[in-house]
Amino acid sequence: MASDSTTVNPFETAKRQIDIVADLLHLDGGVREVLKSPKRELTVNFPVRLDKGDYHVFTGYRVQYSMARGPTKGGIRYHPQVTLDEVRALAAWMTWKCAVVNIPYGGAKGGVICDPKQMSKGELERLTRRFATEISPIIGPEIDIPAPDVYTDSQTMAWIMDTYSMQKGYSVPGVVTGKPISIGGSEGRGEATGRGCAYVIREAAQTIGVHVKGASVAVQGFGNAGSVAVNLLHDEQGAKIVAASDTKGGIYKPDGFNPHAVEAHKAKTGSVVGFPGAKSVSNEELLELPVDVLIPAALENQITKKNADKIQAKIVAEAANGPTLPEADEILFQKKITVLPDILANAGGVTVSYFEWAQDLQGFFWTLDEVNQRLERVMVKSYADTHKIAQQYSIHNRTAAYVLAIQRVVDAINIRGFYP
Ligand code: GLU
Repeated sequence: MASDSTTVNPFETAKRQIDIVADLLHLDGGVREVLKSPKRELTVNFPVRLDKGDYHVFTGYRVQYSMARGPTKGGIRYHPQVTLDEVRALAAWMTWKCAVVNIPYGGAKGGVICDPKQMSKGELERLTRRFATEISPIIGPEIDIPAPDVYTDSQTMAWIMDTYSMQKGYSVPGVVTGKPISIGGSEGRGEATGRGCAYVIREAAQTIGVHVKGASVAVQGFGNAGSVAVNLLHDEQGAKIVAASDTKGGIYKPDGFNPHAVEAHKAKTGSVVGFPGAKSVSNEELLELPVDVLIPAALENQITKKNADKIQAKIVAEAANGPTLPEADEILFQKKITVLPDILANAGGVTVSYFEWAQDLQGFFWTLDEVNQRLERVMVKSYADTHKIAQQYSIHNRTAAYVLAIQRVVDAINIRGFYP
């Protein structure tokens, strides 16, 4: 991954993004301070029994950034490099993301410092159940609703739902989203992030006159969001997928490949690397390939001031959270590259999480078609709202999405007033 990825503090980035918009909206000092402060933070240190019989103390966090617009919402990630500041930034981004797509939530995020790739299923289950117990005083369907994020999945959510329910003495499906369908999950949630991303790419391409049919696409991070986005762009919109990567490296085939075949190769070998007929590229090189659409779908801090000038794509669609640094944004804007910011481009996941929660609370479930149609409506409208603001103020899409989101959060803060 890019060299700045370990040196930049994502929460500093998040606060700089807020300042840019606070200046534009002429927000006063008090509200600005509220926007830059996470409302509630919990750090937990807890022991987990490992398979060898010894115990290891893990550290985890849950940050509830803002509840001005509703219960807080956001995923839990398992990663060796999780820090409190990273979780704060991700919780802030969830707040703006929920506001951009206008769903009635605040933002939150959680993380546990661990290396899930080195852990057995049993160890992961014990870690998850104990972490769920540690954060259980501050989660719940009306308080804060976790979901999957990096290296957590529907199984992780099932363990959290079961742990929380065992403690209550009854089943509480609405405590988490991204669950398996058999226990109250929603149709379409698994692919919602990638699907939402494919919809906004379609909308943006129309605005700038790029034809997605035949357009070349590179994806950094062939995981849940990235692989689904390119599968749909390939199957439903006729795009040509030319490059893909994961933590082990990347592949490039200028005349295109079938992303489903790459998926099968990855399922068999553990990586996209070595896919027959493709050249090897590094994660850094992938970002700079001559493509029409670039989808960063891995981690933060990938597009920096060092490589922004070398990006050749016409559209950069951020399926990952926080892949572009603010200095890089300016460079991409000057190069007239259309950036679809994370809080818009990957908001499909939390949108269908909202649908899942609403279905759980009603105990009434929708068909896949209903979910996808509602998701499409939300994504199309959110892109149109963002694009309109970008035109109106002559600003790039990220700042426009922030203007839309922050204005909504500020309206909620002001109308609720300050307690006491
Ligand atoms: N982790 C996802 C995100 O970053 C989904 C959050 C959710 O569904 O609550 O948007």
